[in-house]
Amino acid sequence: EFPLVEDFRAIVVNIDPASPLVRRVTLELDRDIVLLPGQYFQWEVPGHAVKRAYSVAQTIGRQLEFHIKYSPQGVASEWVFNALRPGDQVTLSGPYGRFFLRPPDGSPAVFLAGGTGLAPIKAMIAALYDQRPDYPAILIFGARTIDELYDDNYFQALSMAHPTFRYLPAVSDEAPPANSHVVSGRVDEVITRTFERLQGHKAYVAGPPPMVDACVAALYQKRLFARDIYREDFFTQEEHGQTIR
Ligand SMILES: Cc1cc2nc3c(=O)[nH]c(=O)nc-3n(C[C@H](O)[C@H](O)[C@H](O)COP(=O)(O)OP(=O)(O)OC[C@H]3O[C@@H](n4cnc5c(N)ncnc54)[C@H](O)[C@@H]3O)c2cc1C
Repeated sequence: EFPLVEDFRAIVVNIDPASPLVRRVTLELDRDIVLLPGQYFQWEVPGHAVKRAYSVAQTIGRQLEFHIKYSPQGVASEWVFNALRPGDQVTLSGPYGRFFLRPPDGSPAVFLAGGTGLAPIKAMIAALYDQRPDYPAILIFGARTIDELYDDNYFQALSMAHPTFRYLPAVSDEAPPANSHVVSGRVDEVITRTFERLQGHKAYVAGPPPMVDACVAALYQKRLFARDIYREDFFTQEEHGQTIR
């Protein structure tokens, strides 16, 4: 039942800073595509025999939105941040992955995103509210600093439009401004102090592997079963080789 993986050629339509450390890249594919909200593509990095995984944050027709975080000296990061321009061609394959929104069955959804872990989560939340405008869900979006909380306006607007959607951005490395909607702490800490019990919920977690591990541990503490937790660890290529799960 999974969409078939295919090779695509795409053109960069837009590339803009979403935050100081994140580029929002919109690619237009050479043909139509079917994918599940939360899936990712493998991008070829020109001049290097490597591929890098990037999750789709939004789909509009043949246009796919990606969020790419800067890793110092990273092969793909240096290319995307210093060379990639509108009009450039990108070769990619996909869609991949089993991290996708399950059919909403009534259980409240807990979305947890660290950094560009927001990309697949954004795709899921958009799909959820397209199908079920009054579905109960919460997003806890964690970043180190306020200026890394990108797409804040988007999620604030979504929570206005859908009163059953709660949006809780959190920063770990600086104090949130007084009287703001931003709270302090890491995502796992926010889980620990926000919920009493999460039995009967479904959780979707995406971000750097240590963040995902900490969140899953916090969810277990709140009595959420492993079968109700879906996770996407943003491993680097090197970590992939070292990790067997
Ligand atoms: C399923 C999946 C989905 C993903 N989705 C996204 C997404 O939507 N957005 C996103 O931003 N990322 C995502 N990622 C992560 C992404 O695929 C890349 O791993 C990330 O962008 C880093 O790639 P890079 O080529 O820039 O860095 P790499 O070249 O892989 O290097 C990574 C880091 O390691 C350091 N490094 C490399 N080699 C060494 C060495 N020998 N010694 C010490 N340090 C070293 C580099 O300095 C760099 O900081 C995803 C990953 C997975 C697995």
